[in-house]
Amino acid sequence: MNAPAPADRALHVLRHTFGYPAFRGEQAAIVGHLEGGGDALVLMPTGGGKSLCYQIPSLLRDGCGIVVSPLIALMQDQVQTLEQLGVRAAYLNSTQDAETAGAIERAVLAGELDMLYVAPERLMTPRFQQLLGRARIALFAIDEAHCVSQWGHDFRPEYIQLSILHERFPQVPRIALTATADAATRQEIVERLALHEARIFVSSFDRPNIRYTVVEKDNARRQLLRFIRSHHDGDAGIVYCLSRKKVEETANWLRGEGIRALHYHAGLDAATREAHQTQFVRGDGIVMCATIAFGMGIDKPDVRFVAHLDLPKSLEAYYQETGRAGRDGLPSNAWMAYGLQDLVLQREMIEQSQAPDEIKRIERQKLEALLGYCEAPACRRQVLLRYFGEPSEPCGNCDMCLNPPETFDATLAAQQALSTIYRSGQRYGAGHLIDILMGRANARVTERGHDKLSTFGIGKQLPDAQWSSLLRQMAAQGFVGLNEFGGLVLREDCRAVLRGEAGFLARRVRESAPRAASSVRREMEFESDEARTLWAALRQCRRDLAEEQNVPAYMIFGDATLKLMLDARPTSLEAMHALSGVGDRKLDAYGMQFLEVIQKHQRRHA
Ligand code: ADP
Ligand code: ZN
Repeated sequence: MNAPAPADRALHVLRHTFGYPAFRGEQAAIVGHLEGGGDALVLMPTGGGKSLCYQIPSLLRDGCGIVVSPLIALMQDQVQTLEQLGVRAAYLNSTQDAETAGAIERAVLAGELDMLYVAPERLMTPRFQQLLGRARIALFAIDEAHCVSQWGHDFRPEYIQLSILHERFPQVPRIALTATADAATRQEIVERLALHEARIFVSSFDRPNIRYTVVEKDNARRQLLRFIRSHHDGDAGIVYCLSRKKVEETANWLRGEGIRALHYHAGLDAATREAHQTQFVRGDGIVMCATIAFGMGIDKPDVRFVAHLDLPKSLEAYYQETGRAGRDGLPSNAWMAYGLQDLVLQREMIEQSQAPDEIKRIERQKLEALLGYCEAPACRRQVLLRYFGEPSEPCGNCDMCLNPPETFDATLAAQQALSTIYRSGQRYGAGHLIDILMGRANARVTERGHDKLSTFGIGKQLPDAQWSSLLRQMAAQGFVGLNEFGGLVLREDCRAVLRGEAGFLARRVRESAPRAASSVRREMEFESDEARTLWAALRQCRRDLAEEQNVPAYMIFGDATLKLMLDARPTSLEAMHALSGVGDRKLDAYGMQFLEVIQKHQRRHA
C-alpha cells in the first residue's frame, strides 16, 4: 500500500487527534510547508489558530518539536491541553526541580516526546544545547516572535540569541509566530531570527466574532452592570480600568451586586495575583476587573466579553486587549464606555510624563486615532482594520452597523461652541463651556464674567448630552484640541466652519440607553427553557470532570463543542465523534459521560 499523501496525513491528525473537521485559513498551507522542511513566519490574530501550525507538523515529522515560549504560566496549560488530546508533551522551565527536568530530558533522548515547551533562557543553557545536539528534532517553533523586537513592549533579550538555532541546526525547519502585525516588527523578526528564506503567511487581522460597541459614559458602573446582566449572565469576562484603586472598587461593587468578580493589578502580591488568575482561568464564568497588567499570556478560549471602563492607551493596545475575547470563535463582545474626561486624563498623562518630546508627539497621535475610533461616524471595524492597514467593508457586527446613528446639520451649533471657546479664552473644559452655552449663571460662570459673553445661553436648543457629544465629535474632526490641562482650544481646521465655508454633519445622541445597548450581542440564545436546562447540565458535567482531572473546564471540551452537543444531541459515540472538538482520545475519555447526560435529559423531557 502507498503511504498517504502529506495533505491526507495532516488532515488525519487534525480529525483524529484534535477532533476538528477542517483546517482554518492558512493552516493547511503552513502545516504542509513545515512538514516539507520549510521555514515559516506566521502572522495571525489572537484566536486565529496558531498552535496547530506547529503542533501538527511536530506530530507528522520524525523527532520532538521544540516550542520556545516566553510565557511560563502558559506552558503548563498548553501541555495539559495536549495531554488531554493524547499527545506526548512536556515543558522545561525554572519552576521544576532537577529530578523532574532530568526525567524529561531522558524522555526527549528516548524519543518518547512529541513536543517540548521551553523558556528562551533555558534553551540557551549549555546543558540544553547539548541535549539538542543528541536528540532528534522535528522543528523549532518560536512563539510570540515579536519578543525579539527591541521597540515593542514585550522585548525579551534572550530572543535575540535564538538565531543560534539556525546556525547550529540549519536542516531543522523553524516557524516563528506572532499576533503583532506591523511591518516594522515583521522585518525585525526576519532579521534577528535569520528567517530570510522563510515563507511569510499573513492572515487577516479581523476578528469577525467580536462585536464592537462604544457607549457614552453616564455612570459607567451602572452601564457595565446592565451590560453584564442583560448579555453576559454567568459568563467569563475582563473589565479593564486604568487605576488599581478603580479596579478594586469596581470588583467590590460588582460582587455587591451578585456578580462573581475578582481583581488583579501589579500592586497585589504575587501569590494573590496567581490565585486570582488561576481562579479566572479554571473557573467557569468569573469576571476579572484588572489593569492592563492582566492578560498577557491568558489563553482562556471562552472569555465572552472584554469591557473598558477607561480609555486604553492606543488602538494597538485596545485591539490586543479586546482580542482576548472569543478565542474559541464564538460570538463575543468588546464594550467600552468613554467620555471626554477620559481623553483629558490620557492627555494629562502624556504631558506630565518624562518621555522625550518625540515620544510624546507619537503618543498624542495615537490618542487622536483612538478618539477617531470612539467617535467613528460609521463601521468601527473598518476604522480598526484601516488603522492596521487592512481595507474592509462595513461589517454588520458593530454598534454603528447594527444601529446606524442619525445625523443632523450641526454647523450652527459648532459655530456657537467654537465662539464660546474663543471668547472665554481657550482654557476651559467641556462642563464649563456647556454651562455658558446653556445659560447657567452659576458661581464659576459669574465669577469669570462669562454670563456677559454674547454666547451665554445661546445653546439651549440642544440638551447637555448632545453638547458633550458634539464637543467630542469636534475634537475627533480636529476642529478643537485639548491643552495640557484639559481645556479646549481652537485648531486651524475649525476656520472654515467658523466662517461658514464648510458645514458640519454631526451624530445625534441616542436618547435612551437601552436602545444603544440592544445592539450588543447576547452570548447564548436558547430556543427554550428546556435547551437552557440541558446546557446547564452539560456544563455541570464538564465542571465535574475538570475538577476530577484538576484541569480548567475548557480543556475537557470548549464552549463551541458543548454548544454542538446541545444542538445535535448525539445519541451514539459515533455521532459524538463527528462533532468538532471531539477527537479520539476525548471520545474515549469523556464521550460516554456526556452521552448519558443527554440521554437522561431527553428521557426527562420526552
Ligand atoms: P492563537 O494561538 O492563534 O491565539 P489558538 O491556537 O489558541 O490561537 O487557537 C484558538 C482556538 O481555535 C483554540 O480553541 C483552537 O483549538 C481552535 N482551533 C484552531 N484551529 C482550529 C480548526 N481548524 N478548527 C476548529 N477549531 C480550531
Ligand atoms: Zn461595523
